[in-house]
Amino acid sequence: MLILFINSNMDKIYKKDPMDRDLVTIFKGDDIEEFKEGVSDMIKYYKRLLLKKDDKYYLRKGTLLYHGSENYPLNFAKKNMMTFFGLDMEIAVWYIYEMIMNQKHYTARIIKSKITGEKLFERNGYLYVFKLKEDIPTEIIEKIYQNPKDTKVCKNKKVTCIHPQVSYRGDSFNEEVGTKIHTEVTLFMETYKDSLELIRSYLIDGEKLHKNHKDIEYDIRDSIVREYSDPTKIDDKVNCEEFNRIFSDNYVCEYCDFRGSFDSVLEHEKTCSFRSRGSSKKNKHNNIMKFLDFLKDKKKRKNTKKRGKINRGKAIDHTKRQYITTGREAKRELIFKNRTGRKLRKTKNVKVSGNRKDKTRPSASYYYNILKKPIGTKVRYAPHEGLGGSGKIYTYTLQVRKNGSPFWKKMY
Ligand SMILES: [Zn+2]
Repeated sequence: MLILFINSNMDKIYKKDPMDRDLVTIFKGDDIEEFKEGVSDMIKYYKRLLLKKDDKYYLRKGTLLYHGSENYPLNFAKKNMMTFFGLDMEIAVWYIYEMIMNQKHYTARIIKSKITGEKLFERNGYLYVFKLKEDIPTEIIEKIYQNPKDTKVCKNKKVTCIHPQVSYRGDSFNEEVGTKIHTEVTLFMETYKDSLELIRSYLIDGEKLHKNHKDIEYDIRDSIVREYSDPTKIDDKVNCEEFNRIFSDNYVCEYCDFRGSFDSVLEHEKTCSFRSRGSSKKNKHNNIMKFLDFLKDKKKRKNTKKRGKINRGKAIDHTKRQYITTGREAKRELIFKNRTGRKLRKTKNVKVSGNRKDKTRPSASYYYNILKKPIGTKVRYAPHEGLGGSGKIYTYTLQVRKNGSPFWKKMY
């Protein structure tokens, strides 16, 4: 029989987001101080838990892996998809809650009812329990900040990864509640589906998770509605009103940090200046660079005091590039001037829209990615009127979602 010594540190509550790293920590590739001891204990625990054969680690046959999802039944046919499992049940269930609360960010993607045309939201989720049919090789990722999606070894379809992870009690790290250190396992189903046996699936009550998400000791087994083995997904989606009643009403624009009620966010998204640039990670850098241009141009416009025709719906005309003059370009400019006597104009004046509703709200992306302001940076601004506010100024703190996008969290 395998007896494992479990360190009391494993029940420790952490109230700091492990992604909240300063430049020195980033440079060193380290975890933040708060997590170092706990993570190191966890790694030692893995080394005892896993099987070691010829200097390689294996997850043992019989190990249970938990997977939380909004989907039922699970689609394992998806190619190139990394699937996340919890080695403990807790992280998988809190992921379901995170997914439910995340719907507030994706209002545009919410599916409409075929009957009423109303947008419908998930209020429940499914917990899948798998058992390993054989020993499978695994790599230990020793830092909690490391996301397997960005880690070379884990992106290899033949490799599984085991690593410490936090749970979010909401759509972002919840400093108020904190987290324990959990364990996540990632693998590619296309490689390992035959090594896994689905032994149970459960319907999980999102409302119960919401009511208890602030209780760190909450026993998540209490959120199980029942074992679920129906052939199809239960038809239990709710409309916006009902979703708000259960889960509050603070929505976020899919493309920027605009916040408000479902209706105001949906209305805002139609004319959001950031919409045409998309919300994918790949576009994020471009968005930031264009935002800088936007600021530059705004300044220019202020100085000239001359207002051109306003190009509504577009913050900047991104078909016109903003140049930084290189040596070669300077040379070309000079040749052009010598030949024609005119100045070579490479850029046209960019028109800036005047319809950003939230002029007072600073960009969280700009603060975080460009100004490199640390998480926790406080600013004060008045939220948009549509929020039900009345020009009243609140204090906000800079936070980062699990997917890396920064936002302002209201404090007081
Ligand atoms: Zn927006």
